[in-house]
Amino acid sequence: MKPETPPMPTLSALDSRTTFKDEEELAQLSASQRIRYRLVGADCRYHANDNISAYIKEGELEELKAEVQAKLQEVLEALVIDTDSDHNTHDTARRVAKMFLTEIFRGRYTPMPEVTEFPNITRLNELMIVGPVTVRSACSHHLCPIMGRVWIGILPNEHSNLIGLSKYARICEWIMSRPQIQEEAVTMLANELQGRVKPDGLAIVMEADHFCMRWRGVKDTGAKMINSVMRGSFLKDANLRREFLSLLDRQKA
Ligand SMILES: [Zn+2]
Repeated sequence: MKPETPPMPTLSALDSRTTFKDEEELAQLSASQRIRYRLVGADCRYHANDNISAYIKEGELEELKAEVQAKLQEVLEALVIDTDSDHNTHDTARRVAKMFLTEIFRGRYTPMPEVTEFPNITRLNELMIVGPVTVRSACSHHLCPIMGRVWIGILPNEHSNLIGLSKYARICEWIMSRPQIQEEAVTMLANELQGRVKPDGLAIVMEADHFCMRWRGVKDTGAKMINSVMRGSFLKDANLRREFLSLLDRQKA
């Protein structure tokens, strides 16, 4: 749903910065418009799977929640649901707004979890596998749930930064709790881990059940989507790749 007023500045207008509002003027707008102005002004992408927390100021998340709630109430009305007398849906707009912003799409609105990195003092250089990490996400096409598992393979070198095992799960959760498509989610996770850990090799496999195949569409209940990203030594070394995949198969069995 696009806000009606004020109109978004056109890109050419933004280029000259003549219409770009300062924070004082922005204060007159709704929180979503304010945040959008900052994003456009900074030339920052804000797709469904992008994290926009750097552009959200204190207190604005609460304002966003109220805005989303009001729009969801309109959606319920458009669906011709009598939310006044139907006690089950009376509070649904508020519940769903809260769920979107603080649970299932939380990874868009909150900064990356704190992760402490340790230098690889003991120079570990053995294949390390983390997983399965439970994945809960949503497809960006229908906002239907995606439930699955992720395995991460790391081959560190002496310059790698190691992070605690539980942190892999936290980074994974942060990236997955956004509307996604699976291929992009896996690539995003790989980029984040590559940048932090700087391993010689990085492998990620994600296996997930897409509810937009079950609730709607073909109603195929058994289909799972599996995809993987292999980088560095996992690409070059077939033995390493085999070792990773066979350990993973053993876990799945
Ligand atoms: Zn879908």
